[in-house]
Amino acid sequence: FPSRLPNVGTTIFTVMSALATEHEAVNLGQGFPDFGCDARIVDAVAKAMRDGHNQYPPMAGIAALRDAIANKIEAVHGRRYDPLTEVTVTAGATQALLTAILATVHRGDEVVVLEPTYDSYLPSIELAGGTPVFVTLEAPDYRVPFDKLAAAITPRTRLILINTPHNPTGTVWHAEDMRKLEDIVRGTNVLIVSDEVYEHMVYDGAPHQSVARYPELAARSFVVSSFGKTFHVTGWKVGYVAAPAPLTAEFRKVHQFNVFTVNTPMQVGIADYLRDPAPYLELAAFYQRKRDFFRAGLGGTRFKLLPCEGTYFQCVDYSAISDMSEEDFSKWLTREIGVAAIPVSAFYHERHESGVVRFCFAKREETLATALDRLSRL
Ligand code: PMP
Ligand code: GLN
Repeated sequence: FPSRLPNVGTTIFTVMSALATEHEAVNLGQGFPDFGCDARIVDAVAKAMRDGHNQYPPMAGIAALRDAIANKIEAVHGRRYDPLTEVTVTAGATQALLTAILATVHRGDEVVVLEPTYDSYLPSIELAGGTPVFVTLEAPDYRVPFDKLAAAITPRTRLILINTPHNPTGTVWHAEDMRKLEDIVRGTNVLIVSDEVYEHMVYDGAPHQSVARYPELAARSFVVSSFGKTFHVTGWKVGYVAAPAPLTAEFRKVHQFNVFTVNTPMQVGIADYLRDPAPYLELAAFYQRKRDFFRAGLGGTRFKLLPCEGTYFQCVDYSAISDMSEEDFSKWLTREIGVAAIPVSAFYHERHESGVVRFCFAKREETLATALDRLSRL
């Protein structure tokens, strides 16, 4: 039968992780920590299971977790979402993004996407029958060209998808960027899906610019985040979406037939763990140390460092080392040098070569040191 996603193959993350395993390379490709999570969050989930929290939770998420999420957003970003009508627990950010897109995009609607873009966005738009409209972020600084973004908006634009801090480039939006976005959407019916999964990884003391901080933006936005990133548990797949009640109502119509609910003991355990704000408030300092260690080490190589203001990704320009395509270079680096990377070209819908690859530094210092040792031979 005809494929619904004819252009989709296996994700680059899966491909590069498999290659890294095959060649016993240090895997700085797919984004996930190689260290454990806090034992307290594991204990909290185990206790929830032992206490019998093992049946279906409410469709939108257990009350204690929705309360904790609303409190966290209010404490960090200063906006109060009603846990009953405006916060929904999701099976990671991926499901939140797909569900928000399916709930809002009608066949033929235009969805503005900033490239390079996270790999789940385009298939999600395609499944909804939407038409992606691309605005390109260019190496090496990848700032948003707001004039081009404004020009991309038409009467058929339903959604703009934004992502700050940005995967794969590590750039973050600043206050003036948010104000420019406000100017662009004012007076339109355009909705925003704001992917903020790296919200607690913004460096050098800068604030995370959540759309939740900007009332005009918040009124038309789905704010998406994920505990996988924040609590070093990418395999747990628990996240959330916060959005005004009318948007949340539509989101939940799809959510209830997409996953219906998200697993109960994780929700109980995470709600308990969220009572202490320290783990997420200290995350930026934790990852900034890793960023600085990794960047200092790369300083002694022939790679050219690109900015990294947030996320746990560091992009590098390798044009002084090789003129291979990004994909070929990433595979060569994995096979021959023993360090896996992700080609940034994988985040563009058309061929786009800038001589840039992405490394993930969410790794133990010894892992990073081994990788740096190998990279310094180039
Ligand atoms: N958005 C971005 C930008 C991401 O980097 C990721 C994780 N790689 C996701 C969404 C998906 O998050 P989750 O694992 O919670 O589904
Ligand atoms: N988000 C992670 C990354 O960018 C990977 C998640 C996945 O493998 N789908 O590397």
